[in-house]
Amino acid sequence: MKLRILTLFPELIEQLREYGIIGRAMQNGIIELSVVNIRDYTESKHGKVDDAPYGGGAGMIMSCQPIADAVAAHAAPESHVVFLSPQGPVLTQDKARELAKKEDLLLICGHYDGIDERLLQTVIDEEISIGDYILTGGELPAMVLTDVVARFLEDTVGSAENVENDSLSDGLLKYPQYTRPAIWRGLSVPDILLSGDHKRIENYRVEESLRVTKEKRPDLYKKVCGKTLPPGD
Ligand code: SAM
Repeated sequence: MKLRILTLFPELIEQLREYGIIGRAMQNGIIELSVVNIRDYTESKHGKVDDAPYGGGAGMIMSCQPIADAVAAHAAPESHVVFLSPQGPVLTQDKARELAKKEDLLLICGHYDGIDERLLQTVIDEEISIGDYILTGGELPAMVLTDVVARFLEDTVGSAENVENDSLSDGLLKYPQYTRPAIWRGLSVPDILLSGDHKRIENYRVEESLRVTKEKRPDLYKKVCGKTLPPGD
């Protein structure tokens, strides 16, 4: 996947190259990252990339010209252009799986009080939020999106099974897991996991996945199992 990230803080994004599984995916050529400094594209003699909002207001707005020119210089015809924004639909596993199928992603990180609305009508294909809260800039959201999408790229995480077994991949939370020792602080690993009976372990994990989802995220449980729940459950 070609991944281009347009930002005012390239040093922050560059750190992705050094970071665990994502860094390795970049070193192995699974992700080809280009980090573009939006400021390099401004026509302003003073390096300005923002201006005061029409109609007044406290914050500054990122101008159309530097962003549009940076996109024009770096987007390929097949690029899918995403603006990280608290106004977009919130990122989910399903959305990340869909984005992982794109060959070329271009992410735009906003700053200040956001970007000129006209960029949404011209160069941006979609907005994506990482949650219902406001960060100071789009860099952390772009890094989050990169990490989440990268997990769905072939050969990034150990095996496809790993990713598809993650919490939320089938809409439910993952079953509880344990590792050695079998007893720790008087707490034992459930016997069934030590039984070696793979069929029973598989069934147990499905039941546990349903149980923890119902307990920790009743909203998800209802979404997945709502239709089959007996009334009052
Ligand atoms: N004033 C804007 C509004 O109310 O919609 C928020 C601007 S925010 C301070 C600056 C930039 O950070 C945004 O343009 C966006 O790129 C990024 N950002 C902030 N929160 C975000 C979120 N939850 N998800 C994705 N990007 C976010």
